[in-house]
Amino acid sequence: MSWFKREDGEYESGPDPRDAADKTVRTEGLWIKCVGCHAIIFKKELEANLNVCPKCQHHFKLGARRRIELLLEPGYELVDGGLRSTDPLNFTDVKPYKARLRAAREATGLDDAILNATGQLGPHAVILSAMEYSFIGGSMGAVVGETIARAVDRARLAGKPLIVVAASGGARMMEGVVSLMQMAKISTALAQLDAAKVPYICVLTDPTTGGVTASFAMLGDLNIAEPGALIGFAGPRVIEQTIRQKLPEGFQRSEFLLEKGFLDAVVHRRDLKAYLIRALDFMKA
Ligand SMILES: [Zn+2]
Repeated sequence: MSWFKREDGEYESGPDPRDAADKTVRTEGLWIKCVGCHAIIFKKELEANLNVCPKCQHHFKLGARRRIELLLEPGYELVDGGLRSTDPLNFTDVKPYKARLRAAREATGLDDAILNATGQLGPHAVILSAMEYSFIGGSMGAVVGETIARAVDRARLAGKPLIVVAASGGARMMEGVVSLMQMAKISTALAQLDAAKVPYICVLTDPTTGGVTASFAMLGDLNIAEPGALIGFAGPRVIEQTIRQKLPEGFQRSEFLLEKGFLDAVVHRRDLKAYLIRALDFMKA
């Protein structure tokens, strides 16, 4: 015999949990904690401020679409879309690469980690290529490589300046050597662009690392970065273990790299468009 036995319907059941859910105010996703100053910022306020923290000016990541909207005048055209990775190695790590691609496509609405656009940047007709970090870490596989190479060719044939906004964790390991070949392909196209004397500006944003830094991101006639961006080839831990030395403060951040001569300028996001226009005024004069 049990000590306690509840008959069905003996007590009123508690409130319907679904009613409770209706009454709760949804706050999740409305606020964001700044990684720079730990302030709690209203997400809408952050978005209205170009994804820059209004308190400490920390530059949050910006998607490719928004980047193009911010830089080009209305009426720009998206080009070179519709390319999709064929998963040449039929690669599987913890999950199949095909599944990763599908999830990234659904989450971002993009075919891969890049968007090309043609349009006006102030008075200048330009080709703009913007990377999307939220698509598998902005990694560069065959599609990203081909899309950027097409932007370069487009710039060369039309004689329009090229601007690339880099945001990438580097080569896409799921495409192995195919992703590494993109470095050579884009660099070759950029050499032709250089020979044709068409200006190329690279904007390095947080983060720009690995094979992207080691190829087109450092090949601009002008290489400029957003404040506080992580820019490097190998990660700091790998370097520390290799050279067995402690790395200095701010190592691999924009300001440090500017001081050491790796970059030409560090430009706040709100000033970026005006800066690019002035640079092109000068380069095309
Ligand atoms: Zn902040």
